[in-house]
Amino acid sequence: MQTKILLEEEEIPKKWYNILPDFPTPLDPPLHPVTHKPVGPDDLSAIFPMELIKQEMSPQNYIDIPDEVREIYKLWRPSPLYRARRLENYLKTPAKIFYKWEGVSPAGSHKPNTSVPQAYYNMKEGIKRLATETGAGQWGSALALATQMFGMECTVYMVRSSYTQKPYRRMMMELWGAKCLPSPTTTTNSGRNVLEESPDTPGSLGIAISEAVEDAATHNDTNYALGSVLNHVCLHQTIIGLEAKLQLEKLDLKPDTIIGCVGGGSNFAGITFPFAGEKMKGKMPDVDLIGVEPSACPTLTRGLYTYDFGDVAGLTPLLKMYTLGHSFIPPSLHAGGLRYHGDSPIVSRLVHDGTARAVSYNQTEVFDAAAIFAKTEGFIIAPESSHAVKGAIDVALECRKTGEAKTILFNMSGHGNLDMSSYDDYLNGRLEDVEISQVLLDEAYSKIPKI
Ligand SMILES: *Cc1c(COP(=O)(O)O)cnc(C)c1O
Repeated sequence: MQTKILLEEEEIPKKWYNILPDFPTPLDPPLHPVTHKPVGPDDLSAIFPMELIKQEMSPQNYIDIPDEVREIYKLWRPSPLYRARRLENYLKTPAKIFYKWEGVSPAGSHKPNTSVPQAYYNMKEGIKRLATETGAGQWGSALALATQMFGMECTVYMVRSSYTQKPYRRMMMELWGAKCLPSPTTTTNSGRNVLEESPDTPGSLGIAISEAVEDAATHNDTNYALGSVLNHVCLHQTIIGLEAKLQLEKLDLKPDTIIGCVGGGSNFAGITFPFAGEKMKGKMPDVDLIGVEPSACPTLTRGLYTYDFGDVAGLTPLLKMYTLGHSFIPPSLHAGGLRYHGDSPIVSRLVHDGTARAVSYNQTEVFDAAAIFAKTEGFIIAPESSHAVKGAIDVALECRKTGEAKTILFNMSGHGNLDMSSYDDYLNGRLEDVEISQVLLDEAYSKIPKI
């Protein structure tokens, strides 16, 4: 009985998969924040390197992974695919449950899959420093790791609630040579504006993005890097699904259900896109793709599919996506990496077209699932990833009712070894479930620009 399905280093894919050309009609383009005209490469070149801008709009199905990037990938890739037999036994399900384990990267999540190529392309184009935002600290630490490897500097605007809740990630960033600031800061105009209105704000990804973009746009040697949402980020993460596909093929299996948690959508993109492409081409018509999000930040399940800003200040291009409104500040929650008002335009389009679907859960039931996982499979997982586990458990329990032996594949986006204070809150009954009222959402919707 095989527990881990492993690949050789030579089997690390040599190309990322770009899903854009496989859509029956093109995606709605990003629009300039002021003129509302489609943005071109020149609009983006103030904050992104040309190679990433090309990838963002590429019509090619496959894009070469540079050798230097693949060499660094070898530190943790190929990542293992696990058969969760103990979880299956616990659930008494006929389903076969597999999870792709991305917690093996040095930063502990899937995020270095994109931070490494992003730092690489910026370094190649002569950029000395990258500015970015981080929620739970996963992205900031992943970018700090990557910039360190290419001898670059890194400034991280960290959402204040996480900065205080999760000091260890700040320390990781500092160890990897980055400068980490609690956002909103007083060092940018966007930060100062927010602090004037609400001095006690817990911060949000939207605010931190405004600060990092402003930093990059006002310094010549500095670019901006985003850890999710954008097409090139989703592209880099497809290495997860490409490997998982190979691993399942070694067992002569194809997944019936694929699940990932959704913050900005990149790890969900990573595990699903290679299969979503097949689905759109009619090769896997029945594969069920499920994005799982927190009820406290229900972007795909309760948001509007429309053009909106990616940040609070309205500095980013307008993206056609599911959004809770760029002014919506999600309540503090333990899965800090899922606190984002918007979503990847590609993931949004897949959900809008019905190629993928979304569900949401409260944090207590999500932590229950993580506790079951820790007791059965052993790994202590990130609160974000626990959403995917909860989704997988529910599908497996459904299989117990129907007797179907489905093959369930989910992405385990990261380990939870630095989230023990959240587990402490869970174990001691201090977790609260927050319901977002429709009144609050309607107010945020009213501030979405009318395009
Ligand atoms: C950042 C993060 C997420 C959410 O981001 P996506 O872009 O939606 O993948 C999920 N899990 C972990 C462990 C993370 O660090």
